[in-house]
Amino acid sequence: MRLRKPQSGLIIEGGEMINSKEVKEYAKKCGADLIGIASIERFKDVPAQHNPSSIFPEAKSIIVIGRRITRGTLRGVEEGTQFDLYSLYGDVWLQDRFLAMTTFKIAEFLEDNRYEAVPLPNLPPQVPPMGIAVRPDQPPPNVMVDFDDAAMRAGLGEIGYCGILLTPEFGPRQRFQIILTDAKLEPNPLLKQKICDRCMECIKNCPLDAIDSTKEKEINICGKKMLVAEIDYAKCTTCKNGASPNRYHPAGNPDRLAAICVRSCIDHLEKMNKLKNRFQSSFRKRAPWKIGKREMDFYKI
Ligand code: SF4
Ligand code: SF4
Repeated sequence: MRLRKPQSGLIIEGGEMINSKEVKEYAKKCGADLIGIASIERFKDVPAQHNPSSIFPEAKSIIVIGRRITRGTLRGVEEGTQFDLYSLYGDVWLQDRFLAMTTFKIAEFLEDNRYEAVPLPNLPPQVPPMGIAVRPDQPPPNVMVDFDDAAMRAGLGEIGYCGILLTPEFGPRQRFQIILTDAKLEPNPLLKQKICDRCMECIKNCPLDAIDSTKEKEINICGKKMLVAEIDYAKCTTCKNGASPNRYHPAGNPDRLAAICVRSCIDHLEKMNKLKNRFQSSFRKRAPWKIGKREMDFYKI
């Protein structure tokens, strides 16, 4: 018997279990550029305040969906000519909505096939615990999953030296959303290849010395080890080089995806031919503009 459902238009025949391939094919049709799947077991070392199973105890799989930030979106910031292209009212507004639509369609597809799907918005994991736990063994009810961490666990990328998730497709140029589901899906393998080559371009180009290589630390996620420098986010919050304050919560890390540190990383990874999304021309066409602490103090910005 073939069931039919108008929303997703696709139901697996005869009550068979849905599988990863079907979910991924559907996600691509809905506009996902990236889709990775992690089993809940890969989160067993994650504290309860950030653990998907605190939200949905029966969750078996974590689906991480990514859409690219188009490179052209960063052009105005890179040239110092149009800062609103990458802003809450420009790219962020548009792309967050497209990503949400893609995520919601995939959630519908899962629920059309009789699995529960919990779509999560990308809220900052730095938000402090709030509210009172409803049971003694539970964390406060604002559980925030770290999406970069989840994308790594779902095999989509690695955390680069500058603390940003890098993928082989786009480097740092993407945003993620997540669906928790009780469907048991085949997980992606963890990414084996190295993307960050510790070129230090992010550090060299940061005008505020916010990335401290003397305090680097090794992080180990599911056995994958990555070296990450310490970032002084208080400096990034004041940075006028393309960074913007976290749009969801003052405690959240600032959005650095358009900042000169991350743009320098994009330029480097493209020059090294490390990214699959290729262009006719190079990203950085001239020496980048920068505003350091002295100019910020002088102009009182
Ligand atoms: S700029 Fe270089 S060191 Fe920094 S994150 Fe990118 S690849 Fe790694
Ligand atoms: S956001 Fe600004 S201050 Fe922070 S690391 Fe990037 S360039 Fe430096």
